[in-house]
Amino acid sequence: MTNKNDKHVTTTGAYVFCIANQKGGVGKTTTAINLAAALAALKKDVLLIDLDPQGNATMGSGVDKNNLQANLYEVLLGEVSIQDARVASETGKYDVLPSNRELSGAEIDLVQMEGREARLKRAIDDIRHEYDFILIDCPPTLSLLTLNGLASASGVIIPMQCEYFALEGLSDLVNTIKRVYANINPDLQLIGLLRVMFDARVTLQQQVSAQVETHFGDRVFKTIIPRNVRLAEAPSHGMPGVVYDKSSRGAKAYLEFGNELIRRMKREGLKQAARART
Ligand code: ATP
Ligand code: MG
Repeated sequence: MTNKNDKHVTTTGAYVFCIANQKGGVGKTTTAINLAAALAALKKDVLLIDLDPQGNATMGSGVDKNNLQANLYEVLLGEVSIQDARVASETGKYDVLPSNRELSGAEIDLVQMEGREARLKRAIDDIRHEYDFILIDCPPTLSLLTLNGLASASGVIIPMQCEYFALEGLSDLVNTIKRVYANINPDLQLIGLLRVMFDARVTLQQQVSAQVETHFGDRVFKTIIPRNVRLAEAPSHGMPGVVYDKSSRGAKAYLEFGNELIRRMKREGLKQAARART
């Protein structure tokens, strides 16, 4: 585990981004893990928050979800500090706030609590100045957990597959983002849509990809993540694909995505979650 006392302290605080899509199995966790590793490889300080009781982002970062000292669930309940719950991903060179199935209890426990949708944000406020990027891997639901993610973030990254009905599936999420923006979090923005598991040989995927560009314009990232078996193999080795086989097409694409995201943040001057604001 990295010694937090050695960490540099940023003057502005991290960009906090949710990786979200309420559709299951679209590549959220793969994107969260590999973007975290790509940004770390680009010398950024990154925290990956596993907001899914499945614990896939935890395991895929090489952290055993069944053998945790502390986890996100305890942080949300206020039993453990975020500083005590985070651990280092030795393989990914970033920090992880890990989760396991205990987190599924949060949906019920948090309902009774004061400021139930702001629990994660409050925890993040304690450490946001230590990182350049905080990425939140959301579960495949529009639940209270996801709401906590959206309430904490300044932006949302939506991984999507270019399949039939993909655009219709996005409207619920986009509406939820608008509602959170209007009612809870005026900093929330749609950063962009990331086309993942892309197979350029499939005509339908090319057609949907073009439709997505027409509909969302510059909100679509230029980088496209190909379908690549190395990315799918990496989690069973407890490694991000970017580390497991950095010469693979999938790894190169996620590294390029990390670069594109950094360029976009510079260009747009998106407000970082300033420590002073909180
Ligand atoms: P859930 O909704 O259950 O949280 P998810 O949206 O997080 O799922 P992932 O777990 O990232 O989706 O991906 C689903 C499956 O697709 C996994 O088996 C993963 O390894 C595989 N996968 C993701 N991206 C790619 C890719 N670019 N190429 C090949 N396989 C991929
Ligand atoms: Mg997932």
